[in-house]
Order: sequence, then structure tokens, then C-alpha cells
Amino acid sequence: MADLDIHLLPVLSDNYVYLIRDAESGACAAVDPAVAGPVMAALGRLGWHLSHILCTHHHADHVGGVAEIKRATGCIVIGAAADARRIPGIDVRVKEGDEVALGGHSARVIETPGHTSGHVAYWFEGAGALFCGDTLFSLGCGRLFEGTPAQMWESLLKLRALPDDARVYCGHEYTNDNVAFALDLEPRNEAIKRRGAEAQALGEAGRPTLPARLGDEKAANPFLRADDPGLKQAVGLAGRDAVEVFAAIRRRKDEF
Ligand code: ZN
Ligand code: FE
Repeated sequence: MADLDIHLLPVLSDNYVYLIRDAESGACAAVDPAVAGPVMAALGRLGWHLSHILCTHHHADHVGGVAEIKRATGCIVIGAAADARRIPGIDVRVKEGDEVALGGHSARVIETPGHTSGHVAYWFEGAGALFCGDTLFSLGCGRLFEGTPAQMWESLLKLRALPDDARVYCGHEYTNDNVAFALDLEPRNEAIKRRGAEAQALGEAGRPTLPARLGDEKAANPFLRADDPGLKQAVGLAGRDAVEVFAAIRRRKDEF
């Protein structure tokens, strides 16, 4: 299989738009184009021709550029069937298990409600790349605007089931903000310290901390570990069920 080229485009205060391209066919998608101008400029610089937009969820900092980019390029807009009303210009409505083709590459749609009710992630298994919007952040997860802790935990378990070497492309650059909270929960967790040191060095060098490696997140991210006896103990909820622990740490993060 030819490469899947992935370009990270920082926009707004801390969002990423991901431009991805099948090197063989030239098929090219923008994931969560929050703004049109910078995306069109980046496509011009790269010499890439946009054929698709992949939307993870309806928030303005993810779909803000969709309508204008579609008008300019005639690309096909893909988003969740469950949220079709709130995805501008949607052409293809996808649901759990659907495959989205990008040239010779293909992404499996994973429904991940919690941050919003119609949130989806795109898993390019062949390329080992996961685009997860605001469901999973490095060392964090999205706020529960439209879902319950049980829904979000289920969504995160689906992402956790992917291979350790999956590269995680999140919707926001939040890693360095998340380190302090994760360490506050578990001051002695070496995996958090390692990821924290790595992210700090990248941040100081002016480089993105993403993609994250999923295996590192499984070891360090408290929101992927609400069923871990060590974490339960650390937050004073030994023996309680994972959803309850997840809800408690999400609440603590909201107030941190
Ligand atoms: Zn969002
Ligand atoms: Fe967002």
C-alpha cells in the first residue's frame, strides 16, 4: 500500500486540521477544517487537491470552514449520520463500522458519543492512524457536553481496543495542559512522567506533541484507565466500577 501522507495544520488557538493524502491516487481529505483560508493556503503550498472532508463532530472549531471549502473545491463532505443536521453540506452519512475510502486507503468509522451525541472517529487501519476529534486527547479526553460518563467510557474503550502502535491525531493541542492533572491524580506514574517530558520538549521546540502513540496513552492517560485498580486506589475509589471512576475523574478535571 502506498503511503498515507499526513500534514498537521495548527489553526485557531489550539486546534489541528489534518490534511491527509493517498500518495498513489492523490485523493486528499481534510479532517475537521475549522477555517477555510489557512486550509486552502496549505493545500496550495503542498500542491494537494482536496477530494474529501471528514468531520468528527459538529462544533464550530471543527466544521467552521466546511461550507466555504466545499464551495471552492467541490469536495465530498463526510460526517456522522446521527448528526447529519449539524454537519454543513454533508454528502455522505456514516455510522459505526462503515468504511470510508481515500484512494487505496480506507478508514473504519467508530461512533464515539460523549463529547457530542453524534461524534465519530476515523481509523485508518492500514496506515495505523486514528483521527479522533475531541473524544481522546493525549493525557485527556473531551468534555461531556452531550453525553453521559457511561457513553464516553464506552467510546474510549473502543479506541483503547486499537493496537498500541496506532498514532492518535487529536482535535486539539492540549497535551502539556493535561500533564499536571494526570500527575495530580498519580504522582508516581512513570508513563505520565515520560509522556510529560516528551511533550514538554516538543512544546519548547515549537513542535506538535501529536500524534500520540496509543500504547503510551493506554499506560498514562487517566481517562483510558478508569478500570485500573491502581488508578481507582489513587483517587480513593478502590473497588468501584469503571464508569463511576471515570465520572469522578472527569468531574475533577472540569474543576481542576
Ligand atoms: Zn468539540
Ligand atoms: Fe474542539
